Amino acid sequence: MKLKIFVVAINILFYSSISIAVDKNEIYGFFPSKWPSNTIPVCWENPSNANAEGRKLTREAIQETWESHSNLEFIDWSTCHNRSMGIRILIDDDDGPHTKGLGSQLDGRKDGMVLNFTFNSWNRTCRKSLYFCIKVVAVHEFGHALGFAHEQNRPDAPRECQKERQGGDGDVYLSEYDPDSVMNYCNPEWSGGGTLSRKDIEGLQKWYGKPNVDMISAKEIADKKFNQGNYSSSYWWTLVCESIDIVYDKNIGVTQLKANDKPAKTQSQKNIWLKILADTVDDIYKDERIRKGNHAMPKNRIKRNILKACSNPKMISAINIADKKFNQGNYSSSYWWTLVCDALDTVYDKKIETEQPKAVGKPAKTQSQKNIWLKILADTVDDIYKDEKIKRGNRAMPKGKIKRNILKACPKNK
Ligand SMILES: [Zn+2]
Repeated sequence: MKLKIFVVAINILFYSSISIAVDKNEIYGFFPSKWPSNTIPVCWENPSNANAEGRKLTREAIQETWESHSNLEFIDWSTCHNRSMGIRILIDDDDGPHTKGLGSQLDGRKDGMVLNFTFNSWNRTCRKSLYFCIKVVAVHEFGHALGFAHEQNRPDAPRECQKERQGGDGDVYLSEYDPDSVMNYCNPEWSGGGTLSRKDIEGLQKWYGKPNVDMISAKEIADKKFNQGNYSSSYWWTLVCESIDIVYDKNIGVTQLKANDKPAKTQSQKNIWLKILADTVDDIYKDERIRKGNHAMPKNRIKRNILKACSNPKMISAINIADKKFNQGNYSSSYWWTLVCDALDTVYDKKIETEQPKAVGKPAKTQSQKNIWLKILADTVDDIYKDEKIKRGNRAMPKGKIKRNILKACPKNK
């Protein structure tokens, strides 16, 4: 997360020539580095099959955070060429992640951002929770790439936090000091767990605008993701469900910042979610009509397919839950398997809560409940195996052993 120090020299030059707009709002920005356009190209210096999963996770993390809460659009994401502009990302598994400047200082700069996907030489505890760490680091580094400095560098940060000062300073206070910022080393949760704080979002929107909610369609987002990934065709519906949540967050981001990244609770929030669902059904139906005429899938079936995908336990991954807990606590590495087992129960409860609210918090009893639990176990084994493949290639832990490790960590009465 290091920001290379030579940026500071440039900062000092600018300091004297710009008026410091101290605006008591959000985050800590360096104004000359604010991008002039809301459309920012991103490219990869060294993409390969080996880092495809990490690239996908990075892109998703940015879409779910900086992009979904602002009017920014990160485009391209292909291979860099000699004269590529925008943010140029080098994947270097021997180096700690950092940016070589703030915001638009990175425009067209070769290797301007460095990301590490294996954590073999930097922050090795991350090897136990690769997905989580890749996302957390990406969100933090993209914060720098948008012009945001370390929150703990602020002169109004608590003194013990300022001891962790690092990298170039901002010049605009876009908020009061924010202990929960993803840009704060002093955050009790490591880089905020990759989730933008309320003040992060307010600051982001101050510079880069609120999301243009009229222009985004959940179907388009799902189609884009689908074309980028290597998904089975039925997974498209899951992507549609995820995209409805992205659009929902964008809508909520304009009016009710506190409700961001949380399920719709109040009636007005539920109505917003249902309106987006209805719009999405209409979009998909229109498309069906064009492609299949009278054989188009009827609207109620489209709706059923989306809702079925939304209640799919794949949507919340046990490995993400376990990783998050592991990173917050001070656990021995073998305890990770116990956290995975706990997380299976969390996903299980989530899955059954709408249809069988009474069974929540209890062990699976009926055959259908056991099947649900076993399906979640199988999905989790798959997730961990994918992770292992990235980390260790041919020496990945086999699926059978992953399953045994989880079951060994689960209480006997499962
Ligand atoms: Zn940093």
